[in-house]
Amino acid sequence: MQNAHLAEESIQNKIELLGLTSEELRGWMSSLGEMPYRSRQVYQSIHRRRVTDFAGMTDLPKTLRNILEDHSVITRTQIQNVFVSSDGTRRYLLGLSDEREIETVFMPEEHRDTICISSQVGCPLACDFCMTGVVGLKRNMTAAEIVSQVVIVLNEVYGAGNPIPHRTNIVMMGMGEPLLNYDNVIKSIQIMTDQDGLVIVPRHITLSTAGVVPGIDRLAHEAIRPRLAISLTAATDELRNRLFPINRKYDLASLMDACRRFPLGERERLTFEYVMLDGVNDGDTDARLLVRLLSGLRAKVNIIPHNAAPELPYRSSPMKRILEFQKVLTDSRLPSFIRRPRGQDISAACGQLAARRTATA
Ligand code: SAH
Repeated sequence: MQNAHLAEESIQNKIELLGLTSEELRGWMSSLGEMPYRSRQVYQSIHRRRVTDFAGMTDLPKTLRNILEDHSVITRTQIQNVFVSSDGTRRYLLGLSDEREIETVFMPEEHRDTICISSQVGCPLACDFCMTGVVGLKRNMTAAEIVSQVVIVLNEVYGAGNPIPHRTNIVMMGMGEPLLNYDNVIKSIQIMTDQDGLVIVPRHITLSTAGVVPGIDRLAHEAIRPRLAISLTAATDELRNRLFPINRKYDLASLMDACRRFPLGERERLTFEYVMLDGVNDGDTDARLLVRLLSGLRAKVNIIPHNAAPELPYRSSPMKRILEFQKVLTDSRLPSFIRRPRGQDISAACGQLAARRTATA
């Protein structure tokens, strides 16, 4: 018994390689007496070729593979279940080392794939219209766990080690508030964009926040910056306080100031997500308030039909209303697009992620 316990403990103590930057991997392998070119081989194996066991590192001597195996694991994340939508969207229920579960959503399109990844197990923000808030926060995810979602999903879709036919977009819009797990999220972006690894282009990564103002200001100073999206959904403090408890801490004025301070690349715009809630925030007056709030900002609005769940006291606005709402924005020259719901039939759409073990609620 004692031995089994010790063996289990030593597995838990092993370093999880997917969470190391190339520099950290080099440092760690040099402490094992290995040369830098070896660490580069390992980094390329696990990120570029997406090898998930040491036996697959055939370019390394067997002795080195054994040493690595004694001291590390590539990832502890495992697929528990895959739900496939009629529109091709795939929702992955992934098990982490402590048996917690998170979700990752894969959305294929003709010329690119989008992977929606989680950053926390659950979420502390308790936004009134989102299922993840109903679950509450269990814990932060590690950088290794965040990166593992991309590696595991790409392997499941394309086969381990096979090249990806086209570009991969990453949206940090799964479970959790990325800016409340700041360091691990930034590290995962550093790892995913590495030229020796997944080579995801920083501007193909979008980080969405419900409005953690100090996090937005920190992000503004990062060397590798993802695109920023703000979950706005209300254009007055009165309504936003009701929908987003975090608005009581960082109100709209402070959120908009942080947005104005945020550096944008050429032709880049901030995205403002606006979830359409029937009879709550979807009138022409709401649209005009939104236009006024965003005036002077390089912004575009991502209009999101609300995705229902039995636990949520909201309904989506009907499409006719959504189009009328959009017309007010268009007439004021505020660019917007309507996000097509993906994977609704398998509880994979925005705001439906609650690590459900069945296809639907
Ligand atoms: N915490 C971050 C990222 C997760 S939410 C954030 O709030 O931005 C990702 C997007 O899904 C947000 O824009 C959010 O407003 C939206 N969303 C949440 N619940 C939803 C629901 N039930 N239907 C449609 N969109 C929802």
